[in-house]
Amino acid sequence: MGLKYREYLNGKKVYGCSTCRSHLSTSDKVMSRDFQGQYGQAYLFCGVVNIEEGEEQQERNMTTGRHRIASISCIRCGTMLGWKYIKAYDSQQKYKEGKYILEKSLLRLVD
Ligand SMILES: [Zn+2]
Repeated sequence: MGLKYREYLNGKKVYGCSTCRSHLSTSDKVMSRDFQGQYGQAYLFCGVVNIEEGEEQQERNMTTGRHRIASISCIRCGTMLGWKYIKAYDSQQKYKEGKYILEKSLLRLVD
């Protein structure tokens, strides 16, 4: 395992991990605030840094259809933050592929 250097983001609003405050994304990367995570409201982001993708992918049936996802966790503290959409089987959901869901309750605005 190599050393991991954390990336720092500049932006009006930077979202960080609520546990360790590592930078994760910015408000201009938010595609939707109208998603449902495992613990409640979740945001869809088009780009997230300082995360580790779970090696094991899962097939999950959601209200919007079947998706293949990989869990994502903070590289610093290991907190599970949400998931990445690997594949959407429904053609109308394809825009989510390669995008990230972060649980709102696990995010905090950081400086
Ligand atoms: Zn963290």
